[in-house]
Amino acid sequence: MDQFPAGRASFDPAPPVAERLWRHVIDLLESERAEIAGRDVSAPVDVRRLRAAIGAYDFGRPERPDDVIEDVAELLRAATVHTTHPRYFGLFNPTPTLLGVVGETLAAAFNPQLAGWSHAPAAAEIEAHLLRFLGGRLGYPPGKVAGSFTSGGAEANLTGVLLALTRTWPRYGAEGLRALPGRPVMYASAESHLAWLKIAHATGLGRDAVKLVPTGPDLRLDVERLAHQIAADQADGDLPFLVVGTAGTTGAGVIDPLPELADLCADLGLRFHVDAAYGGAAALSDRLRPALAGIERADSITLDAHKWLSVPMGAGALLSTDAEGLAEAFRVTTSYMPDDVPDTVDPYTSSHQWSRRFMGLKLFLSLAVAGRAGYAEQLDHDADLADDLRDRLAATGWTIVNDTPLPVVCFTDPGDGTWEHHDALAQRVVGSGRAWISPVRLDGRAALRACVISHRTTPADIEELVQAVNDARK
Ligand SMILES: *Cc1c(COP(=O)(O)O)cnc(C)c1O
Repeated sequence: MDQFPAGRASFDPAPPVAERLWRHVIDLLESERAEIAGRDVSAPVDVRRLRAAIGAYDFGRPERPDDVIEDVAELLRAATVHTTHPRYFGLFNPTPTLLGVVGETLAAAFNPQLAGWSHAPAAAEIEAHLLRFLGGRLGYPPGKVAGSFTSGGAEANLTGVLLALTRTWPRYGAEGLRALPGRPVMYASAESHLAWLKIAHATGLGRDAVKLVPTGPDLRLDVERLAHQIAADQADGDLPFLVVGTAGTTGAGVIDPLPELADLCADLGLRFHVDAAYGGAAALSDRLRPALAGIERADSITLDAHKWLSVPMGAGALLSTDAEGLAEAFRVTTSYMPDDVPDTVDPYTSSHQWSRRFMGLKLFLSLAVAGRAGYAEQLDHDADLADDLRDRLAATGWTIVNDTPLPVVCFTDPGDGTWEHHDALAQRVVGSGRAWISPVRLDGRAALRACVISHRTTPADIEELVQAVNDARK
């Protein structure tokens, strides 16, 4: 009677059957939440066994959903770096908020189509409202904020480049790069996120058009060297058009000198983009916001909600005050898309994606429930934990090598500065299952990197990490 139906009837089973499955999923998610801290953060994976387990599904006969869900959960448990673990001190992968997971589920079930406004007025307006809120915290006049949610920071950065090309050379859109009177070049620091190279490849700029400007010893973009490089390129006949400042570099979490970069761009008439994929979240904290000073002068800003704002993958955003520029960069008309509704923007005509998911809901729910102050409290807490980590590492003989108010801690063993040593230390820590950290090269020098990115991390987890790195060094 309440057997789960097989075949196409499984698409939409009767209420009691569907409810039982949901209850199973809820029990599973709750037991994951309860058990995660007691597990190893990661474990070695046998690729052959993993592929064999997955390959056993040939989709030849229907399976029971409870069995498949348990089986998949086991695969994910065994073969995933547990970024939801309190001692995942890794890349910018957060533990998602509970409301973020709920938001993902609601968005999936309602499945609003965010290409055209008229198909999804509620979803489109929720995202527009969020962008105005985020833009306002970053220092844009809220009434002027334009932009879109993106698959992530890489798409947002791509959007920033397309906007800059479109605005700098009105002929670019119709005639392409070959209409330009020379070779366009752009600038980012050597510590910037290398999505810039893929973007240059895809846009036809070419990878060589990205000039990675050396940093000073503080790992910030060296503005003087940047100015020299721009002058030299201009003398060579190249066409500088865009400078990128990074607010929270991926390696060391440092913030480039944004006011100086904004000044330089204003002087030279260049576009200015700030990649705040990770660090932009700091705008929600009154204590941390001053570190982003100058970001409000950027022509466009990248901010990933799926990093320090702790919503599930993926939710990036591109913010700008240039609605017309975005509309020009992505303009298109079709006979089959519904006509636009007055005083609204169809997302597909001002962003890269066409059909797309309602990415903003998970952030909307998380923010509405925690409140801006709740987020600020979490961000400040993470920054405090990182200070605690710096103190404990320094007290046990490590050298801290990065300077940032954001919770990214990079440290070296003064006894042996080689990459091999730091790589081996990280492998030993990760291999122990006690924590996840990574080796990193900063301005060419080896270090270990630990980012406080899970809202589950406690002072006891910091203590455990310090013990794990000290044990690894023994
Ligand atoms: C993560 C990151 C990116 C890329 O963003 P995705 O969300 O991975 O696409 C770009 N820039 C910086 C500074 C980042 O930290």
